[in-house]
Amino acid sequence: MDLFAGIETLKGIGPKSRELLEKVGISTVRDLLYFLPRTYENYTKTTNLSEIRPGRVVIKGKISDLIVKRTSRRNLTITEGVIRDKTDAIRVVWFNQPYRVKQFDKDKEYYFIGNYDLNRGRYQLTSPTARLAAEVEDKTTSGGFQPIYSTKGSFKSANFKKIFDNLRNKFAFIPDLLPLSDSNPDFVYPGSRADALFKVHYAEDSKEVESGRKYLAYEELFELILAASLNKIENQKLRGVPLKFSPEKIKRFVNSLPFALTNAQRKAAFQIIKDMERAVPMNRLLQGDVGSGKTVVAAISAFEAITNGYQVALLAPTAILATQHADSLEKLLSPFGISVGLLTGATKKKDFLKRKIREGKVDLIVGTHALLTDDTKFKSLALCIIDEQHRFGVNQRQKLLEKTLVPAPHLLMMTATPIPRSLQLTIFGDLDVSILNELPAGRQPVATKIISELNFADELYPKIREYLGKGQQIYWICKIIEDSSVSEAASVKKQTEKLKKVFPTEVITFLHGRMKPAEKDAIMSDFAAGKINILVSTTVVEVGVNVPNANLMVIMDADGYGLAQLHQLRGRIGRGSDAAICFLALPAEVEPSRRLKTLEKSNDGFYLAEADLKLRGPGEIYGSLQHGALNLQFASLTDSRLVAAASENAKACARAFAKDPELMLKYPELGLCIKKYQQLTTLN
Ligand code: ADP
Ligand code: MG
Repeated sequence: MDLFAGIETLKGIGPKSRELLEKVGISTVRDLLYFLPRTYENYTKTTNLSEIRPGRVVIKGKISDLIVKRTSRRNLTITEGVIRDKTDAIRVVWFNQPYRVKQFDKDKEYYFIGNYDLNRGRYQLTSPTARLAAEVEDKTTSGGFQPIYSTKGSFKSANFKKIFDNLRNKFAFIPDLLPLSDSNPDFVYPGSRADALFKVHYAEDSKEVESGRKYLAYEELFELILAASLNKIENQKLRGVPLKFSPEKIKRFVNSLPFALTNAQRKAAFQIIKDMERAVPMNRLLQGDVGSGKTVVAAISAFEAITNGYQVALLAPTAILATQHADSLEKLLSPFGISVGLLTGATKKKDFLKRKIREGKVDLIVGTHALLTDDTKFKSLALCIIDEQHRFGVNQRQKLLEKTLVPAPHLLMMTATPIPRSLQLTIFGDLDVSILNELPAGRQPVATKIISELNFADELYPKIREYLGKGQQIYWICKIIEDSSVSEAASVKKQTEKLKKVFPTEVITFLHGRMKPAEKDAIMSDFAAGKINILVSTTVVEVGVNVPNANLMVIMDADGYGLAQLHQLRGRIGRGSDAAICFLALPAEVEPSRRLKTLEKSNDGFYLAEADLKLRGPGEIYGSLQHGALNLQFASLTDSRLVAAASENAKACARAFAKDPELMLKYPELGLCIKKYQQLTTLN
């Protein structure tokens, strides 16, 4: 089976289907095989109606009393009926599906799967799927355990199921990613890909799904770690820009700072300077908790490169952040005759600035993606600093690479996402890591308090008034409802209206991710300038913004976030010397989880990362890493045994490839798979 053949080579996929599937990114056989069920419906586990609870339910019963009602709202019909089993009866409702009236035979049994919940004071099953019981139970057609695929364009789950039904016999011919041969006895995982993919698509129970996905998770980790290992080998061969280290010069700069460095900052800066002395390009990750002072470490690194006669680029994920960095770095560096340029979408006279960059007349260029356009060229770039690295996509980093001529620049990536040490070594094996595990002296930890919405009037509002009275500003964070642009905007707007009633004399503005970037930046700038008292926002404020005058934060529905994300959000306050307080708000009926209680007790991002690892297992803590940068589909970085197995095998494989470069050519698919990760973990 050729995994890179077009999908039209498969039985049952004609030109029309091919066109539609290509539109949604499924063009090769491989794309299709790796398009896995989103979930499974288990018809083997039904609920008796006498025991039904609100939530997603599978019911087996007969349906009767069906009628269609037209409502006062135009274009809306409601189809109602009653579902009965031997134990009880419930109401069922479909919206705008009048054909349901004719669909059922009142003497036959059906399976219904849907959401059972309260609606206008009555419990009902809303818009369930319905399938004839006899059909579901007929094992030869499908069985009681059913895969559900995501809808992709005009392709629904049923369409995908039909495609896969046709392919069942072909699965045995799927080759392994790394077929066992004499040359690689050491690094092959037990099992086979054919078997794993078969299990995931045609599972008859959840155990099979799990076992299939485990193999695929292994495969993914293997690719990731192999890519990192090969990167490291490749990187060692590159020529970089060796920078001469003069301790006196650095000392002078450090002494000019308005504060004493923490020990952690000192150590990290020294590691960076030592790296950059070498002729091999640096590839270093600077990990520091929110507020640990990464910017000044970046400043020292930039100072080192610039005083050696080179240029430095600093990339930030948003314009507001780039502007803040440019401002604070200019303050630190300009006394030494170093020029700082800012290049964002809003920069006027871009061409003029770009010419100066090309001619080497700007030493440090801070910018957003605008830095990445094709016509930005550097005269002599020796160091690239990337702030909040996981916010940058592979393509953007690749672009930056393209504008850096040989020799390759040093790379410093900064992130506030804590990654436990054990994982760093295996997953980011090609990166050297510096850690800022210490907050600057005199910083007060953010007090954190879980609060029920019932106590807002008594506890929260008075506190907010107190802070506003001191001239301080407030962040009010609302939950993003995923995949629904309307709800995201609607929920911040609604919250804003509510707060305006409670605090009628304050300036209250909202901010959400679907706004235009310029609009978002304008609001953030106003907030930073103190023109807004209360900012109601989704998590778009999560990244790096520094507004030292904002020291009270309310996070609504706090249980809906991961620990790491809550910690990041909380890090937006308490950035000056003022006392800061963060309220984790929960709806009246919700009990606080252990996760929230852990957060209440600790302010240490690394401790929280470890705690989350224990509490949640495969956890949200890597959420942004997995979904943002690493894009892992199956693997959890917290499955340490699987990580260890993949790591051992991948390293053996990397050594074999390094010894015999011809060997890798035998596995073209593997080459393609690891390419995406190779671009990820390095720039060089
Ligand atoms: P982050 O690591 O979250 O990016 P920043 O670099 O923005 O943190 O630093 C947060 C604040 O702490 C800034 O106002 C910065 O000037 C200040 N700061 C950094 N290092 C020190 C230090 N050693 N002593 C006192 N304040 C410091
Ligand atoms: Mg920062």
